Amino acid sequence: MDQPLIGVLALQGDVREHVRALTRTGARAVPVRRPAEVDEVDGLVIPGGESTTISKLAETFELLEPIRKRIGDGMPAYGSCAGMIMLAARVLDGRPDQRGFAGIDMTVRRNAFGRQVDSFELPVLIDGMPGPAFSAVFIRAPWVEQVADGVRVLGRVAEGSAAGRIVAVRQGNLMATSFHPELTGDHRVHAYFVELVRDALAAAADRR
Ligand code: GLN
Repeated sequence: MDQPLIGVLALQGDVREHVRALTRTGARAVPVRRPAEVDEVDGLVIPGGESTTISKLAETFELLEPIRKRIGDGMPAYGSCAGMIMLAARVLDGRPDQRGFAGIDMTVRRNAFGRQVDSFELPVLIDGMPGPAFSAVFIRAPWVEQVADGVRVLGRVAEGSAAGRIVAVRQGNLMATSFHPELTGDHRVHAYFVELVRDALAAAADRR
């Protein structure tokens, strides 16, 4: 099968880093800014950045509904940090006017690790990922406060005062991490997502 074409929502945030990480796993990756581009990709990455800004720009660029629609139709999506917030059905400590794609049936808390702690690294154990614990970079990160039935917890903080906090989840074709795997040289999270996109493409082809 051809390499899947994965879009990276390019409104704000660390778009280039995701494009690079996806390319390293062998996928094709393109920035996505227009509604027509949303229709062309096999999967979408929503990068880290600032969810209130991404929300505002998604409305301005008329991307909110097209992305919601494709997610509703089963397009795989992966959100990191602000991207996790954009994929959450419920957001605590968000701005009242912030809107998202509401794909994953979970509640996330923005800036959960405390605003004063800007950036740090912690080991995260990820379900179904071979190899050592993932050394995860957190930047003013959310965590997952609660998940509904049907949302699989993929990863928790392994040590420190936030030990046990949920920081990686999956529901169907959607996944999200509180941390930024695009900022490290470890591309296992991106490889996991690319595999998910491949499986979704194969399942769609079987149905035809
Ligand atoms: N705190 C940011 C937000 O609320 C997320 C930070 C990040 O993506 N690194 O969107």
